[in-house]
Amino acid sequence: MLFDTHCHITSGSYTKDREDVIQRAFDAGMKYMMCPGTDVPSSAAAVALSHQYKEVYAAVGIHPEDAASATPEGFEQIRQWLKTEPKVVAIGEVGLDYYWPEPSHEIQQEVFIEQIKMALEFDMPLDIHDREAHGDTMDLLRKYGKGTRGVFHCYSGSLEMAEELIKMGYYIGFTGTMVFPKSTKLKRIAAELPIDRILIETDCPYLTPPPYRGKRNEPAYVQYVADEIARLRGMTTEEVRQITLENGKRIFGITGDEG
Ligand SMILES: [Zn+2]
Repeated sequence: MLFDTHCHITSGSYTKDREDVIQRAFDAGMKYMMCPGTDVPSSAAAVALSHQYKEVYAAVGIHPEDAASATPEGFEQIRQWLKTEPKVVAIGEVGLDYYWPEPSHEIQQEVFIEQIKMALEFDMPLDIHDREAHGDTMDLLRKYGKGTRGVFHCYSGSLEMAEELIKMGYYIGFTGTMVFPKSTKLKRIAAELPIDRILIETDCPYLTPPPYRGKRNEPAYVQYVADEIARLRGMTTEEVRQITLENGKRIFGITGDEG
């Protein structure tokens, strides 16, 4: 069974065929899907979808690219969901993204710090987005996030950084980008890390792996991430699917009885 630990199935890309996309995921052997928000409206949509499908879990949070939209009322809404929604299993996605010039690093950091503090307040894992901001992301976690846990989704750092993160209590998420033939560094990391700290994800509708690269991504394609990890580590894809499913259940505290 598969667990796509990071899929944006609330995205407008699926407005016309969301039910079919989710059905194809089940047909591919999907057990659970974790759908993160990127701002308050998309977090609300993720919570709503978690009510609709027992296999869908949600994360709520403000993405660094949406950091300028953060308000005290928005943070209060996120706190409410964390308090009252049993299928909200993480704060995310949150973090830093220095690829784009806006919002400013200062605004992104402020919003990230606020949500790191929430993770401690509610004892919830963080679903972290770190794009071209490894140094500051690690610094903020070391400074404000002692005792936090979670996942670095769509991992893009070094092997050494991944090893430090694992010591801190984090899991490492791999997407279709690791499947691309040229991703030799990521493949090495996926081959070497302890298998009990690896998660698989699509980050759909983005980052489509081969053989569908260039097309819209969807949760069913997380199987190709499992296949590649199996190939790299000399395991069967069934073993990788089972272990990454258990890993996802462990970090997000999923039992299947959340209602
Ligand atoms: Zn994402």
